Amino acid sequence: MYRINENYLKLQGSYLFSEIGRRVAAYKEAHPEKDVIRLGIGDVTQPIAPTIISALHKAVDEMGTPEGFRGYGPEQGYDFLRNAIAENDYRARGCEIAADEIFVSDGAKCDVGNIQEIFGTDNTVAVCDPVYPVYVDTNVMAGRTGRFDPAKGGFDRLIYMPCTAENGFSPELPGQVPDLIYLCFPNNPTGAAIRKEALQAWVDYANRNGSVILYDAAYEAYISEEGVPHSIYECEGARTCAIEMHSFSKNAGFTGLRLGYTVIPKDLKSGGVTLHSLWDRRHGTRYNGAPYIVQRAGEAVYSEAGKAELKAQVAYYMENARTIREGLKEAGFTAYGGVNAPYIWMKTPDGMTSWAFFDRLLAQVQVVGTPGSGFGASGEGYFRLTAFGTQENTREALRRIRSL
Ligand SMILES: *Cc1c(COP(=O)(O)O)cnc(C)c1O
Repeated sequence: MYRINENYLKLQGSYLFSEIGRRVAAYKEAHPEKDVIRLGIGDVTQPIAPTIISALHKAVDEMGTPEGFRGYGPEQGYDFLRNAIAENDYRARGCEIAADEIFVSDGAKCDVGNIQEIFGTDNTVAVCDPVYPVYVDTNVMAGRTGRFDPAKGGFDRLIYMPCTAENGFSPELPGQVPDLIYLCFPNNPTGAAIRKEALQAWVDYANRNGSVILYDAAYEAYISEEGVPHSIYECEGARTCAIEMHSFSKNAGFTGLRLGYTVIPKDLKSGGVTLHSLWDRRHGTRYNGAPYIVQRAGEAVYSEAGKAELKAQVAYYMENARTIREGLKEAGFTAYGGVNAPYIWMKTPDGMTSWAFFDRLLAQVQVVGTPGSGFGASGEGYFRLTAFGTQENTREALRRIRSL
């Protein structure tokens, strides 16, 4: 008789966004005349850039010709894309990463979720608090945690690293050494970035203690400040302790197209086995989830015209980030982030809980954001606003917030 994986029963369910949806729907039903502005979404809104659309069209047409047809692609991605990534995201930044250390995939979410499968279930795991929920949920399902403890608002046996205003939303090196360490910079939800010296300290810590860092670089394109690394491989020694995940979702609008990649340097070894050889065998290989036409679209991201168009898209969102950040400060709120990331992490006023502030914004000015407590216990008392709206909506939302 079959048995289910009981670790799934420990999951908390997708409470956050369904609860937001429920409260917004209830408000709209009671106030159908009100115009609600959403600054809570984590999805981009601008259409795919023209250069990428042309590349897609071209690849689609190729597929309809005898010479251009492609069947199953290379297991880890087409060379044209892996070479473009190696050249632009690494060599150009002085990082020593070869094309065959890059594994193309259908997005970072799958990779950050699945990467834990190559590690034993007895590894200890550390995550930032607040955190992007995928790192936690997948380790819960794999059985690396105990039960959810409502009193502490977290899972037993999981090492939470608080990210607060006091530490600049950059966690301290844990006293209890974890085997697997998830880091994401620039960060979702706090919008915090990490400076190179600080990231180097993590790399040194991991090498010293035999830990591996799983580095989520999904928001790398939003970095605007000098001294903030775009890749963990800018740090010395990262080739022996770090895996890096990238997405084409937030920099190029591929949330619907789906494309990402993971880097596993061949220097990462455990007991003589390279992690590279293990990930080579991950399920989904041979298809790797990314169609030929989408990989051609990814290649166009690195063309000169593509780069210019995407720079303008990021600048558009970052203008929103500035509108939100400055607008909140003018209104007397304390706000963080929004300089190297499309997220603003504001402190709720008057010690309000995240959900109380959510209700107040919705009821008084019809602006929807995301309660910080939904990302972990340390997110209580904070509220996330995103820069992915239109500039018109974003300005209007801030005009309303200032009138509070
Ligand atoms: C959006 C996001 C991703 C990217 O997800 P895709 O699956 O590539 O769309 C990864 N990590 C974080 C933290 C994100 O916010």
